[in-house]
This record gives sequence, C-alpha cells and structure tokens, in this order.
Amino acid sequence: MMDINSSRNLFERAQRSIPGGVNSPVRAFKSVGGTPIFMQRAKGAYLYDADENKYIDYINSWGPMILGHAFEPVVEAIQKKAVDSTSFGAPTQLEIEMAELIKSMVPNVDLIRMVSSGTEACMSAVRLARGYTGRNKIIKFEGCYHGHADSFLVKAGSGVATFNIQTVPGVTAGVAADTLTAPYNNINAIQELIVQHKNQIAAIIIEPVAGNMGCILPAENFLEQLRKICTEEDIVFIFDEVMTGFRLAQGGAQERLKINADLVTYGKVIGAGMPVGAFGGKFEIMQHIAPLGNVYQAGTLSGNPIAMIAGYTLLNHLKNNSAVYDELDAKGKYLKDELQKVFDEANIPVAINQVGSMISVFFTNKPVNNFTDASSSNINMFNKFFHAMLNEGIYLPPSAYESWFLSNALSYANLDETIQAAKQATAQLL
Ligand SMILES: *Cc1c(COP(=O)(O)O)cnc(C)c1O
Repeated sequence: MMDINSSRNLFERAQRSIPGGVNSPVRAFKSVGGTPIFMQRAKGAYLYDADENKYIDYINSWGPMILGHAFEPVVEAIQKKAVDSTSFGAPTQLEIEMAELIKSMVPNVDLIRMVSSGTEACMSAVRLARGYTGRNKIIKFEGCYHGHADSFLVKAGSGVATFNIQTVPGVTAGVAADTLTAPYNNINAIQELIVQHKNQIAAIIIEPVAGNMGCILPAENFLEQLRKICTEEDIVFIFDEVMTGFRLAQGGAQERLKINADLVTYGKVIGAGMPVGAFGGKFEIMQHIAPLGNVYQAGTLSGNPIAMIAGYTLLNHLKNNSAVYDELDAKGKYLKDELQKVFDEANIPVAINQVGSMISVFFTNKPVNNFTDASSSNINMFNKFFHAMLNEGIYLPPSAYESWFLSNALSYANLDETIQAAKQATAQLL
C-alpha cells in the first residue's frame, strides 16, 4: 500500500478550517471513501502528492490541462505577465486578442464576454436568454451539470449526483419551478414540455456530450431535433461547452457534431487552469448584454490579465497544432479498446463510453444513455476499482458520475501502465 500519511494529516487539519476539508465537494472522496490525496505539484501527465507519490492523472484539473500540467509556454507567459500587475479593472488589449482568438476557433460567436467560472458563464447565458425572449422557464437535462447557480441545481449531475442530493436546501421553490427537466436523449419528453409550457420557455441548455453523469453521448439525431424545436419555438439553444469546448475539437462540440447553438458557454480549457469562463453567441442575442443592452452582467476580475494570458497561450497553441485533437482521439480510442479487453477477460460487464479525450467506465451490462442508466450501474464496484487504481498510481475521478479527461501529455507507455493497473484492479473486484 502507498504511504499517504501526509495527506491523512493534512485532511484532518483541513477539516478544522474548511467545510469538509475541501473547497469543492467531489474532492473530498466522500462517495468513494478513504482519504483525499493532497497534491503538491504536477508536470506533464504526472501528479505528485504530499508524500511524493507519483500518479498518472486522468482528471487534469477536471479538464483544463489538455496538454498536461505546467505546460511551459503557459507557465512562462504567466510569469512574464505578472510583473506588469495582476489586475487593472480597466480594459486591456489582451482581452481583445483573447476574444478575437476564440472567435477564430469556434463557430457562431460574434461577441464573447469573459467571466471567472463555468458557473458564471452558464448563469449569465440563461439570464441573457430570459432577457432576450421575455420568458422565464428553462429546460435542462437530468444528470447534466451547469455549475452551482440556483436554477441549475435541479436533478443536476457532478457532485449533486455523487452525493445523491435530491433537493438542494437554499434553492427557492420559485426558482426550482422555472427549471423544467427531461431525461437526456429523450426527445418525446421535450416535445411534451414544449406543449405544456407553450411560449414560456426561454432556453434549452445542454451538455452536447454529457460529462457530469459520467461520459454520455448524444443519441443519433437528438441534438438535431432539439435544434429544430428551438428554431421553431423561438427558444434559445444553449450549448454548455464548459467541458467540451476546445477539448473535443478546436470549435468544441459545435464543430465536432456539426450543430449550431445560439449561445455557447466555456470554462475549463479556456483558462488553462486559471479561473476563467466565457459566454458568447450571435450579435442579435449578445447585444442585449450590458453595457450594450439592459441584461446586467459584470465582474471585477473578469478578463484578468494573468487568466487571459494563460488561456490565450494555451488556445493559441491548440489552434496552431490541430494534430493534438487527432492524437487525443487515437489515445482515447486505444484506452477504450484495451480496457474493454481487460474487463472482457475478467468477465466483468462494463459499458465504456468514449468520445475523443472523454471516457467513462460504467459497471453495468446495459448501454448507458441517460442518468437513470448511469445510476443503475454498480457504483460500489466503481468505488473498489477507483481505490485499486489509485493504489497502482492511477488517479481517476473519485466518482462514478464523472468523466475521465485525457491530456495529450499521456504517452502510450502511460496508457499501457494504466491498462496493466486495470488488470491488477479487476482481480480485486470480484
Ligand atoms: C465544470 C462545469 C461547469 C461549472 O464550471 P465551474 O468553473 O466549476 O463553475 C458547468 N458546466 C459544465 C458542463 C461543467 O463541466
């Protein structure tokens, strides 16, 4: 067994000053059990914990580290920028360059507003959709996560699913009533909601590839049908690309799946590990945001120079090295195929969902197409698998309801080590 005494001590100490010892719930390992591992540094594909144990990282800060940790051009750019002050609260040329770069990479974005988190981006996009349409209700999908703003904490994924929180104390009944939900990949449920709430729905918000109930792919034609309904009903179609943006392709899921959204939200990769989010879309809708329009949205640290230079440097690198996406696709496919063989040999039924650098293993003998499928998988077995892998030096997300994220710093040797570890782990599952 690995020695994780420093993490144990730090976790004990953390709980005396920080709620649950963590600043974001899933980090606490509560659902998988055991002690959360405290990290002290990382480089490329590797994490090093407080006891100097080394892990191959499949979280990558929940997405941002698509080229691996401490990517040198990003680190250098941050260091160079910091000496010119860490914030102005006034506009800078760098913000224009960032907006122009994003527009050159993603479709359907005429105007883009920078914020400081994915939560803020989604919350603001929904407010804008309401202001633009003059309607109050939104539709989200069960198991999708759009950050922790009140209106999204209804049948949400990620930590809300991990901790099996049914109704969130602190969210008013009024807010909850304006959030309608439907099962992912179920177009009939959407059609019924549209009839029941005719001319009341401002927006449909979706993770175009879901990642917060584990990785779940959109069924064939599902997004196309949603697109059509939104157009016919004057509903704003919001793609939450906080996870998929700049990950599944340069232009995110919009490009990869060839669907046009009306508004798009970004986070994670866009900030290279700094706190950054963004929302953008067509001029016709975006012109309603203050100070151009009356839908208010603001942020003291929005467009922060350190955050912008980090994101700009990473995105610019991705733009000029499009082979990264082919390489990530090949690595994702390789990992999926090899893991499938491992579980087949061990006679353990699994559904492995993968698209590009997002992948999930569900312990079930059924396909996983929505939240009900995901939650009927064997969570207990996932938890055992998680700990067996951790003990082999493979750092997976500590929840069956989270996608794994590959970075391009992962070598095929790293993938093979992971597959070997999975072989060892399966022996402990039965
Ligand atoms: C992570 C995530 C968010 C929330 O972003 P934060 O930066 O954690 O606020 C929103 N939507 C999706 C799809 C996400 O994966």
